[in-house]
Amino acid sequence: MKERRFLWWSELTAGEVVNWAKEVCDVAILPIGATEQHGPHAPCGVDNYNAIGLAELIAKKSGAMLLNTPMYGSHPYHHWYMPGNIPLSYETHIGLLCDIIQGAAVSGYNKFIILSAHGQVSTTLVAVHKLGLAGHFTLSLHWYDFLRDDKNALVDYMWHADEAETSMGLYLYPQYIDMSKAAKGGGTPLVDRKFIIAPGQAPRPGMMYHFEGTFARPEYKELDNGIIGDATKATREKGEKLVTAVVDHVSDLIADIMQRWPVGVKPPVK
Ligand SMILES: [Zn+2]
Repeated sequence: MKERRFLWWSELTAGEVVNWAKEVCDVAILPIGATEQHGPHAPCGVDNYNAIGLAELIAKKSGAMLLNTPMYGSHPYHHWYMPGNIPLSYETHIGLLCDIIQGAAVSGYNKFIILSAHGQVSTTLVAVHKLGLAGHFTLSLHWYDFLRDDKNALVDYMWHADEAETSMGLYLYPQYIDMSKAAKGGGTPLVDRKFIIAPGQAPRPGMMYHFEGTFARPEYKELDNGIIGDATKATREKGEKLVTAVVDHVSDLIADIMQRWPVGVKPPVK
């Protein structure tokens, strides 16, 4: 693959950005996270750093261009008013995602992947369909959707600031993680947990996706330490396995897209 000086749109000249789409790869990844508390042991930027770290490795492997990460995201209702969190309103976030992708399309990018490292399905799905109506091929991926009962990597299903997210942090940005403060967290939903899919779990028939109801208690009233799950189970080795699995899977997806719809070809969405 042709060499490029940098991976991120903002670090390249406009000419380099346009030529990359014309000559090498017209897939652009928009990595998105959030500003959200992640317990006493991990920073409020965990979801941004996870999205950025994964995206850089995927870009190196696949050739995709990286759109700069907006450092704020949308949140399910039960995250609001929790100290450390700065949620964007749903309308703001949907508009932000659509504007970035429509802007990038002007430079010749024809295929888009929104790579999310935070639970913000309520806005990414709406953005994808608005963009589809406007003729843009867009996929929205949430990294934990690749876990699905992956017992090779994790003991527990992924929830929040827990074994999974903290392991990824220990691999990608250990300087921000303090394992001496890692702890076990809480969280009891308003319906039995057996009816709800954890973010990193494979659904069984009849289970509700964790975005399909208002069955979570408000975090600011419920969570003592901001963790759901057990952060003490996190290790760097688990993080490496998770990162490798996601990077390989998304790179594979991009290779498939580029094979079906070669550089310069826009998939016929409209
Ligand atoms: Zn997170």
